[in-house]
Amino acid sequence: MDQIALYRKYRPHNFDNLVGQDYIKTTLVNAIKSNHISHAYLFSGPRGTGKTSTARLVAKALICNDLQDDHDPCNKCEFCKDINMGRLIDLIEIDAASNRGIDEVRDLKEKINFAPTRAKYKVYIIDEVHMMTKEAFNALLKTLEEPPSHAYFILATTEIHKIPETIISRCQRFDFRRISNKALMTRLSYIAQMEKITADDKSLEAISKSSDGGLRDAIGLLEQLTTDGKLQFEKVGEVLGVSDSNLLNGMLDSLTNKDTKGALKIVHELHDQGSDLKKFIHEFVNNLRTQLLESVASGDNGKMATLMRMIDIFQEAQNELHIAIIPQLPLEIAVIKIAGPVVAKMEVSEPKVEEKVAEKVGEKLEPKAEKTPEERKHKAIDTGAIMFTLASIKDNWPRITERIKVPALKQSLKSAVPVKLEGNDLTIQFNTNFHKDKVMEHDHRVEVEAVINEVTDKPVKILVVVKELEIKSVVEKEKEDNIVDEALGIFGGEVMN
Ligand SMILES: [Zn+2]
Repeated sequence: MDQIALYRKYRPHNFDNLVGQDYIKTTLVNAIKSNHISHAYLFSGPRGTGKTSTARLVAKALICNDLQDDHDPCNKCEFCKDINMGRLIDLIEIDAASNRGIDEVRDLKEKINFAPTRAKYKVYIIDEVHMMTKEAFNALLKTLEEPPSHAYFILATTEIHKIPETIISRCQRFDFRRISNKALMTRLSYIAQMEKITADDKSLEAISKSSDGGLRDAIGLLEQLTTDGKLQFEKVGEVLGVSDSNLLNGMLDSLTNKDTKGALKIVHELHDQGSDLKKFIHEFVNNLRTQLLESVASGDNGKMATLMRMIDIFQEAQNELHIAIIPQLPLEIAVIKIAGPVVAKMEVSEPKVEEKVAEKVGEKLEPKAEKTPEERKHKAIDTGAIMFTLASIKDNWPRITERIKVPALKQSLKSAVPVKLEGNDLTIQFNTNFHKDKVMEHDHRVEVEAVINEVTDKPVKILVVVKELEIKSVVEKEKEDNIVDEALGIFGGEVMN
């Protein structure tokens, strides 16, 4: 069965049915109404986002004998009917990617000056225009410089960067965007309804998400995954490898409500179903990301901080999946870290994270009032601040590193040990220069100092050393080299490489 039969059937026949691209739709409708249609349009954008469908609509609006509301083709006159059947001689559709297309573009320059055969205008739609040869572009350019009044051009491309600037500058350009999941879903459920396909929202949502903003792919999948008039999530989820949105939403709800048991239950359900945990985490983080961007837009700093922390922890779980002895363990740990009682206790001082975020987004913070020693003591008890001694910092090192946001920095600190505390100078020892340098990058050092300051309630300056072992080995290497040099001196030879 032809996978794009449904797509063809549901091609938009008027501007109202065009999915997404509202700005382009409005601009074109206004141009048609005011009779200011450009002689050359350039439609660029990802595949399946409606470029060719829009081009046909514009062509029909130009040629139709009986425009509706001054802009929509009637789909009833002889011209509309012939265009819908693909047989109007004055609408010339060229696929520049095909061999025939190359010849057609070559002919174009000669034939363009002939008057239209039946309609009042000749309309050229050139698809995949970026595939044209240099010669063809030159021919097209000449035509675009002085198009005959009866000729209109609509060029479409998925690769705008391959189009010469000289061509672009002679066209009115529209950039088609990926269609939103919501718009895709609305269109899919309309088609399902018209085709009497029983489909649940979960399945339609999964198809929309998998289609990456392309309507053609979305409708193709709808067609492909429907069996006996039914679209079932079991099959959709399996073929597309997507997770049940109920589980994804349930996970977020559980974590937000600190419902550790509920969240763990979802992990076990995923495991029992044999779901791809990697895929689940990927989708979950993607959902968190969407919400994070929304919270940035709305300026909800508290939510932003919570979401960033969740993303960090789940990304860490993702990294550990492939080395886990028990497959679901990293996910379980992530869930407990976020919702569990241990973390809940630590979060008494969470507003500080929010303050940091607020600073990053440029909000002015209330100046901090100087605390009296008495207040400081209380605060230290409230937040469970750790004592400012080397032993205490050492003991609490995992708890300190856990609060670091940047994953690479966190990793570097995990491999390090605090070795000396003098006044406010804390010396940290690293195994390698690599980790040492990572921590000493300005922003990183500031973050580490801020975190230690948070948990100890004392300002701290970080000093670093690299474990002596490495230094020793360098010294020893030099010694060895000296011995070789001496030997060479004695025997008068050269080192063979
Ligand atoms: Zn018509």
